[in-house]
Amino acid sequence: MTDRSPVWHPFHQHGLGEAIPLVTHAEGAALYTDDGRRVIDAISSWWVTTHGHNHPRIMQAVREQTEKLDQLIFAGWTHEPAETLARGLVEIMPEGLPHVFFSDSGSTAVEVALKMALGFWHNRGEPRARVLVMEHSYHGDTIGAMSVGERGVFNRAYEALLFDVGTIPFPAADPQPSLDALEAACAAGDVAAFIIEPLLLGAGGMLTYPPSVLAEMRAICARHGVLFIADEVMTGWGRTGTLLACEQAGVTPDILCLAKGLTGGTMPLAVTMASEAIYDAHYSTDRSKMFFHSSSFTANPICCAAANANLAIWCEEPVLDRIAALSARLGNVLARLSQRDDVTNPRQCGTMVAFDVAVGDEGYLAEIGPRLREHFYAQDVLLRPLGNTVYVMPPYCLSEEDVAQIEAAITSGLDSIA
Ligand SMILES: *Cc1c(COP(=O)(O)O)cnc(C)c1O
Repeated sequence: MTDRSPVWHPFHQHGLGEAIPLVTHAEGAALYTDDGRRVIDAISSWWVTTHGHNHPRIMQAVREQTEKLDQLIFAGWTHEPAETLARGLVEIMPEGLPHVFFSDSGSTAVEVALKMALGFWHNRGEPRARVLVMEHSYHGDTIGAMSVGERGVFNRAYEALLFDVGTIPFPAADPQPSLDALEAACAAGDVAAFIIEPLLLGAGGMLTYPPSVLAEMRAICARHGVLFIADEVMTGWGRTGTLLACEQAGVTPDILCLAKGLTGGTMPLAVTMASEAIYDAHYSTDRSKMFFHSSSFTANPICCAAANANLAIWCEEPVLDRIAALSARLGNVLARLSQRDDVTNPRQCGTMVAFDVAVGDEGYLAEIGPRLREHFYAQDVLLRPLGNTVYVMPPYCLSEEDVAQIEAAITSGLDSIA
């Protein structure tokens, strides 16, 4: 593609004139470009594709739904795909989240969660508005989602629009200072909610922390009546080795955000699931207490049909076995790469493996990511390092040959910048 296109790409500096591949079709873990290349999608098209591209069961469900109902107002109207999906989600997700609110992206699922939390306190006549967040978090790119995420170069221009939050330090090797900070912040009594990415912080650099810390944080919030919001937009749908990351800590949040893998990564759909108490706080004969949020494509029937097919795959196929097998293979790759002197902080969470590239010269740091990205693409592998962090987060259908090709691309990439 030349840069004469009118398309303005996200997170892309057009001024650098970098090539923009044009993809014509995809299957499984492979993307096919208009110049005849087969490129391995080793980051699941930015963390969304779970079972693989163009999954036959999901595509078939979409085709069938297009024959029936395309779109419907969802304020006070309903349709079968949404009803089936909501019931299926309540069934498959942790007990205690009996209400399903639809939206259309991870960011809006987070906005909805924040609004539900504040609405809960408002409607109970005990207005609490302060939100606690974890350092290095990412929750999306809308104003509210940015407000609860890490501040940096990517949101500096918009800082004036972002609301103030309380930041809990990332739980390092010794998590106690982080737990103490959460306890102290919750004790202040003005906190509405704590929002967190369970076990794995994505955009913040693929940082991991153990389930025991997640469980402890949940317990602290419960003790102080602070609502616990789990943003499983990226970690959900098997990414961390279990359906939800929260499961590994035996944690049920008050509010759960799901998007990306909800449709197997095929269509834009999100849900925010809520506890009985959150729903109850909005349940009334008083219209001013209803939940004031909607977007045009809320619970779009075709997207819901895709999500229902994803749920069927989860219920009928050995998805967790595939995830375990892939995780083991990726773990072996990471173990081999960790032998290198230029590979530091190796880490794994289910089907995500990551490491940092050791760089002597800090000024060189910013250039490493783009240089590696270019090298990987030349090797027919789509990888997009975060700064000097290289990570792999592939679809669960990745073959052994593709794993080997990814490892070879990383090895030669590291050699090329050594
Ligand atoms: C991607 C992501 C989001 C935002 O989802 P979008 O669908 O891109 O709006 C929110 N939270 C987390 C943890 C994410 O990884």
